[in-house]
Amino acid sequence: MRDKDCIFCKIAAGEIPSATLYEDEDFRVILDLGPASKGHALILPKDHFRNLYDIDEEVLAKAMVLAKKMVKKMTDVLGCDGYNIVQNNEECAGQTVFHFHMHLIPRYKDDQVGLEWKVGELTEEVKNEILEKMK
Ligand code: AMP
Ligand code: ZN
Repeated sequence: MRDKDCIFCKIAAGEIPSATLYEDEDFRVILDLGPASKGHALILPKDHFRNLYDIDEEVLAKAMVLAKKMVKKMTDVLGCDGYNIVQNNEECAGQTVFHFHMHLIPRYKDDQVGLEWKVGELTEEVKNEILEKMK
């Protein structure tokens, strides 16, 4: 289940060199080439999935367990103060490489990583509309 034109398939398979932090039969974890902070890493499944909409559920569950292990180890190695796990789906949400990946972004006190958004307000109307549609 590879996509021959996908750069992350090639990296995950080891056909393109990468700074690999961890590898097993299902995943490769690499340092991001454009890091948001020191130690920013990406979890790449070796199989190709476009994003969260189509990833196999078993692979997804394993990815989350791996994220926990990597965050623990990397916190010891880097001495960071926290972590953001980011996973973008589709272009409007910031996805630029269309092979599922999870960003592991170390956070340091007073760093300049910008993952904030403008806080809105949950109105009664919108709340009720969504709750109704979810039934
Ligand atoms: P996203 O915007 O969520 O699709 O994230 C794609 C990420 O992949 C970005 O943070 C890029 O810096 C990173 N990236 C793109 N190409 C490479 C590469 N060849 N090796 C490592 N990281 C890459
Ligand atoms: Zn791929």
